[in-house]
Amino acid sequence: MKNNIVTRFPPSPTGLLHIGNVRTGLYNYFFALQNEGKFIFRIEDTDKERSKKEYEEDIFKSMEWLGLKYDGVTRQSERAGIHKKYLEKLLAEGKAYISKEEPKEEGQRTEVIRFKNPNTNITFTDLIRGEVSIDTTDLKDFVIAKSLDEPLYHLAVVVDDFEMGITHVIRGEDHISNTPRQILLLEAIGGSRPVYAHLPLIFAEDRSKLSKRKHGERVSLKHYIEQGYLPEAIINYMSLLGWNPGTDQEIFTFEELIKAFDISKVQKGGAIFNEEKLKWFNKEHMKRLPAEVLEQKMKEIITSVYKVSDNDIKHFTPVILERISTFGEARALIQQGEFDYLFKSPDYSIELLYWKGQKDHEALIRRLNEVIKILGRIDEKDYKQAIIKDALWEYATSEGRGEVLWPTRVALSGKEKSPDPFVLAELLGKEESLKRLHSALEKVSHA
Ligand code: GLU
Repeated sequence: MKNNIVTRFPPSPTGLLHIGNVRTGLYNYFFALQNEGKFIFRIEDTDKERSKKEYEEDIFKSMEWLGLKYDGVTRQSERAGIHKKYLEKLLAEGKAYISKEEPKEEGQRTEVIRFKNPNTNITFTDLIRGEVSIDTTDLKDFVIAKSLDEPLYHLAVVVDDFEMGITHVIRGEDHISNTPRQILLLEAIGGSRPVYAHLPLIFAEDRSKLSKRKHGERVSLKHYIEQGYLPEAIINYMSLLGWNPGTDQEIFTFEELIKAFDISKVQKGGAIFNEEKLKWFNKEHMKRLPAEVLEQKMKEIITSVYKVSDNDIKHFTPVILERISTFGEARALIQQGEFDYLFKSPDYSIELLYWKGQKDHEALIRRLNEVIKILGRIDEKDYKQAIIKDALWEYATSEGRGEVLWPTRVALSGKEKSPDPFVLAELLGKEESLKRLHSALEKVSHA
């Protein structure tokens, strides 16, 4: 182990894992790994009222989904005995005291443990923000525990970081105001200071802090998991919020990020979380998935709606991918029937076959017949969009493009909007496209 580096990821199970916290976890993870150090995972559940089992489960699931492997996990609540020892010591040394409180409401406790603030000036060097200096007088004698068995956040964090040998505290800038209190406590228990790095805040596009209250479910990782995003895309995008490699490279694998991440290049200014950009990353990572993985995933989605062969799935996957950025979008479009034309014979009203409502029955029959004849002459192996287009073009130009191509397209897709008829014909193949044109002809002939 180089320099015995130990980082930690200590989320509180008081809500679903925040997407910003994902970045904090990643940076701690990268930094530990690149230094052959340790990465400690700690559930900070000192707030008994707000901590919930379901949120803890969400945090565990998220770690697994992201693929972050940790060297040990602890729950702060299980360490109350250790915290108590430190509280007793602080009390015995006169560095903390039991304070009698005026109960503000009936039933409120009348005793808490307060830290005896030495009222010094604290200066620390932050890896990202440089030197930070704070006069701690304003912090007064702050409360560190409700009782010997009920430590509060600051005490628990300081004791745990010290006992676990944490060398680097890498966390969100929203914690910077906690640092002076924690340094005071650390000095009181005789601990050595870790290196601090406070990461820039993450803002929404409206430049307000990305918060659950304002931005709802979009702030939690769970939302993106449910929307079918890939972990590699979330990891890639979140890593680049607040840090850039100084090159043009945007797409990184996990392994590449571990190598490339450089904590000294983390910026001071806030970063903006942009969902469209995240979608772009997701699409890029989808393109890089091995074909079998992609097809397996598409198979799950497609077969939840249609009965189709593996061959068709393979064949149609690229068409679907072109229109979507996440598996969630693929699922939604497929469920809405957007790709019906790929998987079943189209169902449409005859009216739709008429270009711009020109109801020339005879002409429509004549044109469909001609299209069938032209397409029928193309060899099966040449049945490709460019050749199909070439074959139809002259006729379409002489007869009127809309007049010929519109009903051809409708016959193939049954939809008002779809890819052009050449693309469709190739996709469906010669046999299926002729079958659909014949059935359009039949529909019109019997009308
Ligand atoms: N439990 C704190 C949180 O979830 C983290 C505290 C820290 O990193 O020191 O925000």
